[in-house]
Amino acid sequence: MAETREIICVTCPMGCTVQATVENGEVCDARGQACKRGVAFAREELLDPRRMLTATVALKGGVLRRSPVRSERPLPKAMLLRAAEVLRSVTLQAPVAQGQVVVADILGSGVDIIASRDIAAEVLS
Ligand code: SF4
Repeated sequence: MAETREIICVTCPMGCTVQATVENGEVCDARGQACKRGVAFAREELLDPRRMLTATVALKGGVLRRSPVRSERPLPKAMLLRAAEVLRSVTLQAPVAQGQVVVADILGSGVDIIASRDIAAEVLS
């Protein structure tokens, strides 16, 4: 059975309201978008929603106590809570380099979790 849903395309600041109809696991109709990127957005949002994951993990020996991390690409939305659980058990050792892989292929998603910034090691006097 076909189902029509209304979503806001956030691909650009225009913010078009797209009415997308899904039938048999496919977007079969889309209206209201000003360009074809709105159809791609609706397809991903309705069939395979994804979000960036940002978090912090514990850090030892650094000038900060926690290190900000993020997914290198959006993760499947259904995976976010479990991925955050995994990060709760991670402890990095300073120094940390921006872009350093913190968890490779988290939960078999093909997406790495990477460090968001450089953090220097604490200088002990
Ligand atoms: S449909 Fe096109 S113009 Fe409208 S918000 Fe999406 S990207 Fe922007």
